[in-house]
Amino acid sequence: MAGSQTTAAAQELCGLIFNIQKFSTNDGPGVRTTVFFKGCPLRCRWCANPESQDFTPEVLCHAETGKSETTGTWRTVDEVISVCLQDLPFYEESGGGVTLSGGEVLSQPDFAIALLQALQEKGIHTAIETSGFAQPATFRQVAGLSDLLLFDMKHWDGDRHLWGTGVTNELPLANMRTAIADGLAVLPRIPIIPGFNDTTDDAHGFARRLREVGADRCQLLPFHPYGENKYQELGRPYEYTGQKALRPEALQPLIQVLQEEGIDTFL
Ligand code: SF4
Repeated sequence: MAGSQTTAAAQELCGLIFNIQKFSTNDGPGVRTTVFFKGCPLRCRWCANPESQDFTPEVLCHAETGKSETTGTWRTVDEVISVCLQDLPFYEESGGGVTLSGGEVLSQPDFAIALLQALQEKGIHTAIETSGFAQPATFRQVAGLSDLLLFDMKHWDGDRHLWGTGVTNELPLANMRTAIADGLAVLPRIPIIPGFNDTTDDAHGFARRLREVGADRCQLLPFHPYGENKYQELGRPYEYTGQKALRPEALQPLIQVLQEEGIDTFL
């Protein structure tokens, strides 16, 4: 049967993965395993996972121990699935599943598709965490195999989006609009970054964009500086040195604006 040949071929595929994190509770419903894809076309200035950006394995040098470690391993679909299946009882008990994150999942579409298909064949709930930056045909293929899209919206303004991430927001916005129009489950998520998108004017701008693409809810993700050590280990400068994590209370004015604009908003 053609389907089984396709599956066999898909299992030969390898994806560049830099982490598989078990018992995640912030990447979708229930208890989840999060599979982190390596490689991203964006360069967000605040990126908490700088080791996720390059499309090749990299060496991290730990300052304290002097030891080095390579991040990024080529893995087959079967290898990733076998790790995910170890926690099947937890998914079933909690309503959880597997989330593909990154990096950018859409930048390794063949591997993402094969993995999502294999997970769905096993009845496992699937989610992807994405910037939405991919050609529409690629996006639709991957998104259509995901039970939930955790869809980042970095800035409402195109020029500011370009400044903050290195790319414009046209593709992500078009893809978010398509996903919502297609009836997919989309949760827009906005990382709130000090000095970039954290004013009440920004909140009005986000509300406008969300309405334009047909969204009526969003989650705000407060800035945290947890990635700082990784920049040191990669020998790269970090633009947010000394910037403290945003407290949830600091986001209340933004939540209020978004709520008043008809967007169901939560942290
Ligand atoms: S999209 Fe995510 S992984 Fe890519 S640079 Fe931005 S924060 Fe980092």
